[in-house]
This record gives sequence, structure tokens and C-alpha cells, in this order.
Amino acid sequence: MEEFAKKVLERCSVDGVSYADVRFVETRFEELVVKNGQPETIKSDCKIGFGVRLIYNGAWGFASSSILSDEEGERVAKLAIEIAKASAYLKRRDVILAPAKPVKAKHRMPFEIDPFEVPLEERLSLLLRVDELMRSVEGIQLSEASMSLWHQRKLFVSTEGAAIEQERIEVGAGMTATAVRGSDVQRRSYPAAHGGNFAAKGYEFILSLNLEEHARRIAMEAVQLLDTEPCPSTVTTVIIGSNQMALQVHESCGHPTELDRVFGTEASFAGTSFLTPDKLGNFEYGSQIVNIVADATIEGSLGSFAYDDEGIPGQRFHLVKEGIFVGYLASRETAPLIGLKGSNGTMRAENYNAIPLIRMTNINLEPGDCTLEEMISDVGEGIFMDTNKSWSIDDKRLNFQFGCEIAWLIRNGRLVKMIKNPTYTGITYEFWRNCDAVGNESEWQLWGLPNCGKGEPMQTMHVGHGVPPARFRNVRVGVVK
Ligand SMILES: [Zn+2]
Repeated sequence: MEEFAKKVLERCSVDGVSYADVRFVETRFEELVVKNGQPETIKSDCKIGFGVRLIYNGAWGFASSSILSDEEGERVAKLAIEIAKASAYLKRRDVILAPAKPVKAKHRMPFEIDPFEVPLEERLSLLLRVDELMRSVEGIQLSEASMSLWHQRKLFVSTEGAAIEQERIEVGAGMTATAVRGSDVQRRSYPAAHGGNFAAKGYEFILSLNLEEHARRIAMEAVQLLDTEPCPSTVTTVIIGSNQMALQVHESCGHPTELDRVFGTEASFAGTSFLTPDKLGNFEYGSQIVNIVADATIEGSLGSFAYDDEGIPGQRFHLVKEGIFVGYLASRETAPLIGLKGSNGTMRAENYNAIPLIRMTNINLEPGDCTLEEMISDVGEGIFMDTNKSWSIDDKRLNFQFGCEIAWLIRNGRLVKMIKNPTYTGITYEFWRNCDAVGNESEWQLWGLPNCGKGEPMQTMHVGHGVPPARFRNVRVGVVK
């Protein structure tokens, strides 16, 4: 494959082309969904192809194909040059890439059990068992369990001399039980909503989720929620569980620190950002105990990788340090625009047929110093909520509203009563400035999100969040409308 990619790269070496890279990507995907005791989806899919990205006369060109022949390689290289020529008419400035050391490397993300070797029957029967356990709870109208597997091989070569091969396995699973009474619909998910939890590991990760152990518990909680009172509308102290915190960090810190959004190149679909470059290094994003890092180096996490799709090593760096906004997710093209010497390695493409964009890696809230129990014990009156149900945030990532599946009232340092349909709203920096407790290492958990959407046409990316629960004062809470 390297030979083919290098041949395509040679086709790009014509006058006027200052840079080119070729990515070859092979992705195998399997998805199983079981609903109400029946297999609903059994899907298997494989995509292979290559993409050519180059700079001609200071402008980008990109083209791709799934036909791996020399003639097609030549056609795609020429097409990328033609597209760059056309883009050059509209350029506002020449594309200048920050320098990067061309890497030659091979990397394989470690795993124990190849999930594709686990018989379909065995995987399906696990989902059918947890589905049955959920339905064994009286009052459950809808039960659903799912599992996804990916195997990806990638090769990256560039005219600067980089040649990087990478291989990874990813898996994920989850389940949801829904109870309905009249117009009241209550659901509980495990280990997370929106498909469960995901990791760049083998089948051992699915087994570690212990789905069967939790199936009846979440089903009983869904039924119990029908009889609870709704969340009160008030301003109070809120403790956000680790699972919901993953989405809070994703929407209110991950997206607004993507440097392409800041410069408006992604504005048409994904929006812009309130974190403008004048705020870098001086803006009070949160309270002093808020530390948020981008970390692509955590082994086995969904947002980790050895090299990004520009051949830059995965890195760990601060976005928010002791409450101050200090960093962006950058690429080779955007890094020099804010005075960075080089990219911090966040460019990734969904597949061979898409251009790399700045994407989150693992965006993590660093652990603080208390347990969840200690956090609750300090609260006279408040609410603990967890597991995302709905989200909404404006284009600049400032005003947000999140709904959760479940919550409990806190009175005098104890959880006293389950309540339903909780939401909380806020303005990003006001909310984080009111953070007065962050869970410690023992409460910190990794969540993989396989469905972060960005770009036009939209690309779905796999990202991660390592987060503990955290406590926020003066938060407006209410009920899902
Ligand atoms: Zn996203």
C-alpha cells in the first residue's frame, strides 16, 4: 500500500505544488442493535480508499477515490490540483503550514481480544440477555441494547518525507430502558446515553462494562421515575455526575477551543466561538480549581492516537489552567495565526474521502481533591443530576441548556429523593466560575463519544472525555419542556 500511496504522491509533484499528502484508510465496522427482544440491526460495512490533499499556488485542493489503481491515482492527483487552482482564485491569503518534523513510524493501539473474532452469536446473545433482563421489570415498554466495533488501518505519506502506519480497534456498547405512562416517558441508560461507552480497546472493554449486572437496576429506575416529582424551578447548588460532565466539557470547552471555528472557517455548519484570540492567556474561563486539558496520549481512550492526520504526534496540553483560558486545539495551518510554533496535533478526518479538520482528542477535566460523597455532604440544599438526555447550546458556545435522565434532591448533605425531568441552564464562563468542588482521581472516569459532528459535509468523529463529577453554585434548574 505504501508503494501505491507514494506513486500517487509522485503524481502531485508538479510545478506550483508546495506540499502534498496522501492518506490511505481502510475501515471495517459492525453494529448490532436489539430492541424489545428482537435483533433490529445487524450491520457490517467496509470502506477502503485514498485521499490526496495538496497546496497549489497557496490554496488547498482535495480529492479522493475508492478505486486503487495507478490510473485512478493519477486522475485523483490531477483533480486535487485542479481544485486547488480553482480555490486559489478565492483565497484571502496563502496557506502557510507551521513546520513539522516528518515522522516515519508504525503504531498499533494495544488490545486483548479482537472483537471481530468473537462469534456474532455470542455478541448477539449478550445483547438479548440484557434486553430480557430489562424487560423482566414490570412497566418497561421499550428496551434497547447495542454494540459497535471498528477496525481501522491508516497510512499517511507526505512530500516532506513522512510515512506513518497506524492500526486500531474500537468498541462500545450500551442499553436503555424506557417506561411510559400516558404522556410521561422516562428512560434510563447504562453506562451512558446515546449508545453507551466506547474505547479504543478490544472486546475486553465490552465485558468490563458488566451490562447484565446493571440491566434490571436501570429498568427499575425508569419505572420509579414515573412516580417521582419533577425537578423544581429554582436557582440552587448543582452537582453534575461524571457522565453528564463529559457532555458539559464537550460542548462548553471542547468545541469553543477549536481554532478553525475561532477563525470562522467552520462557521457555516458548526458555529463560531466566544473564545477569541484576544482572550488567550488572560480570560477567566472558570474558578481556580478548573483545569481542562486536551490529551491524545491516554492509552485505550477513544480520543487517543499516536499521530493525527497531518502526521503530528498526539499531545497533552492545557486549554484551561487554574481557571484561565490558555490554549486552543490547533492545526499546522492555524497554529502560526496565534503565534504557536507548531501544530498541537488535532487534525483528523472521518475517512479517506474527507479532509482533516481540527477535532477534539480527549478533552478532560483534571481531577480535584474530593470524593462525590464529600461533595454532597457539604450541600445544605441542592440537586445531583446525571446521564444526558438533551442538549442545546448557541453558536458561540455561551448559552446552554442540558437535560438529564435522573436527579436527586440533596438536603443537609444527603441524597433524599429521586426527581424527574431535570434541566440546568447557564452561560459557559459564569457556570465554570461558580465551580467550587471537583471530584478526585477515584471519581474520574473516561467516556468515549463516537458521534461528534462537524464540517460540511458533516464528519462524525470519535472523541473522549476524562471527567470527575463537579459542583456548581447558583445554577438555574428547571424541568424539560
Ligand atoms: Zn461535538
